[in-house]
Amino acid sequence: MSSAGQSTVPFTIPSVSGEVSDAVVKVLDSGWITTGPQTAAFEQEFADYLGAAHVVAVASCTTALELCLRGLELPPGSAVLTPSLTFCGAINAILHAGHRPVLVDIDEDTLVPSPETVAAAAARVKPAAMIVQNQGGYPVDVAALAEAAGLDRTRVVEDAAHGPGAARGGKPVGAESFAACFSFYATKNMPIGEGGAIATSDEGLQEKVRAMRLHGMSKDSWKRYLPGGSWRYDVKQVGLKANMTDVQASIGRAQLAALPEWQRRRAEIVAAYDAAFRDLPGLTLPQRNLGGIQHAWHLYQVRVPDRDAISAELEAAGVSTSVHFIPANQMTSYRDILGADECARVPVTDRVGEELLSLPLYPGLTPDGQDRVIAALTEALRTRS
Ligand SMILES: *Cc1c(COP(=O)(O)O)cnc(C)c1O
Repeated sequence: MSSAGQSTVPFTIPSVSGEVSDAVVKVLDSGWITTGPQTAAFEQEFADYLGAAHVVAVASCTTALELCLRGLELPPGSAVLTPSLTFCGAINAILHAGHRPVLVDIDEDTLVPSPETVAAAAARVKPAAMIVQNQGGYPVDVAALAEAAGLDRTRVVEDAAHGPGAARGGKPVGAESFAACFSFYATKNMPIGEGGAIATSDEGLQEKVRAMRLHGMSKDSWKRYLPGGSWRYDVKQVGLKANMTDVQASIGRAQLAALPEWQRRRAEIVAAYDAAFRDLPGLTLPQRNLGGIQHAWHLYQVRVPDRDAISAELEAAGVSTSVHFIPANQMTSYRDILGADECARVPVTDRVGEELLSLPLYPGLTPDGQDRVIAALTEALRTRS
């Protein structure tokens, strides 16, 4: 309870479709609860939703990134470009795949790397591959960033954890990607709790990641315990244990049906924030409407001075916020691995990273809850102007 005696407005509440409970019980009663027919159906439905050729469902977005990087079969220790303003899982995926993260700075208007910042990083260390990220739900221009890096599109892995619902030039994120990695983590736009997916236009990559998500066992070996299945399988490439279960997939199928309505509600909330904050002194909003894009509105990020104090004031007023992200170059382990010099090469990330604040944005945010967020932030900024 806040000092005002009202309950706190949470930073996020996972949306759960009314269809989920029955779907889960059906799978639990079906006699098959791990990767199987539900997973295959979810893959088809998510591919249809994106307009993608292939979807492979996996355990998480982090593992999806690692599988795609392994699927590129780069020489060990290859340089892989990544924004430093990203989630640690994306950096871990590069390291677990046996490669070296090369940190790319952001453009402060969009909070994502620009062709200029990518080109600057690529000039310093010739990259073998690149991860790009749709920060907050903003669909980056993958082709422009690949060109700036001097990389073919088949060397770009998209961290589309914030991507469901986003589109560029009328094409959903992932529709034509060589490798786009999605997250169904509890806080994401289409939560399963845990889970991820790889969308790819490439038949070869699809085959590799499909085998590698389950130890590298040969195709369809998940069927070996089904009637008529065979115990015989081969391991052609060392894989991970990174499959999605049918219980997760059944949740995903029910959630996917509800996603368009949730996206509509997110856009409504964003419009109300934008209107309320238009003339608020001290507040900077990221630029988000740069030509023919559909934002996924995963996050409502603002930039404020004195961020830590404002976040604490909002918490005291009963409004929980978050920060996306604490830059990777500021984390102890990456500083140890990459060195202080590499970690000093992203000054815009360091400066803007101090100002970022993510406000509550989710379909279950009530108009009253949103009014409290607006009032609390307005008060915090007015007292400083
Ligand atoms: C959440 C997130 C991930 C990791 O997703 P998991 O499914 O939890 O592995 C990766 N990248 C970004 C940008 C994220 O926000």
